[in-house]
Amino acid sequence: MGYENQPDAAERIRRLEELARDGKNGLPGSLWKSDDGTYAVYVAKSAGFCFGVRRAIDTVYREIGKGKEPIYTYGPIIHNDTVVNDLAARGVRVIRTEQELEELHEGTVIIRSHGVAERIYRKLEEQGLQIVDATCPYVRKIHRAVQEKGRDGYEIVIIGNASHPEVEGIRGWCSGPASVIETEEEAQAWKPAGGLPVCIVSQTTFHHKKFYKLVEIIKALSYDIPVVLNTICNATEERQTEARSVALVADAMIVIGGKHSSNTQKLYEICKKECSNTFFVQTFDDLNLRLVPSRGIVGISAGASTPNILIEEVSKLCQKTILNRC
Ligand code: SF4
Repeated sequence: MGYENQPDAAERIRRLEELARDGKNGLPGSLWKSDDGTYAVYVAKSAGFCFGVRRAIDTVYREIGKGKEPIYTYGPIIHNDTVVNDLAARGVRVIRTEQELEELHEGTVIIRSHGVAERIYRKLEEQGLQIVDATCPYVRKIHRAVQEKGRDGYEIVIIGNASHPEVEGIRGWCSGPASVIETEEEAQAWKPAGGLPVCIVSQTTFHHKKFYKLVEIIKALSYDIPVVLNTICNATEERQTEARSVALVADAMIVIGGKHSSNTQKLYEICKKECSNTFFVQTFDDLNLRLVPSRGIVGISAGASTPNILIEEVSKLCQKTILNRC
């Protein structure tokens, strides 16, 4: 809905306040409003670290606390420079490639929430490295599912981004034919491996509607009705639903997250579709409130790898600047 077609700001804020108070309709976040009720800042409850990312970060800090060096993470623990730099300052090093891994022969290697391929576990063991596995349990479940289905003779189709580490990891648990599909064009061009039953899974952060659209295309091309495992994580869905709901009534949206974070990118796309004044903010310094329209509701959401401290800083500055504008 365009801003000009919406009820006036005070009315929208009043309704949003009710929804935030009741926690209904995917809007359970926090709301601050100006004294005259015509300006508001809404922070989505689902903004920021999900359970899997929080668990992985806590794991790294716990390992640091044990004081047993050297400590490595296989890939940056999250797509957030602030956290990664803090860990680097505490001596945690990042392994970026399998070649780098091959050169290590002592220390602890923490596997991040995205998980890794089966061969990486073998490599770590062969090189005598201590493994601390912080793979998100939801991702681990996908590894097990594709491993079992592969053993049962299924061809695996992973809906997601082929170069995303989570998808690379999932692919690395498929013993038989496996392909990755991200777009409708790729789905239409997909050719089944040949007479095998098909099992479809998803990258945990994939968009729901897009997933089912691609599933329909693959179904039409399969020899048999495929087994569809919707492995999209609820944390992602909740975050997307809440962000979309607030973007629908907001005059501006701020989406906070790293530029390499696919779930933040998707969140931005969803918000931008509903609210043309959507701004992508990576760090506190990116935030230019002069660009944010000075009217009505400013909504804030953030990707799964955005630290709470950054969300709080952005929220506080918005409250200070926007609510004092009136
Ligand atoms: S988005 Fe979901 S699956 Fe991915 S790390 Fe977070 S909780 Fe786990």
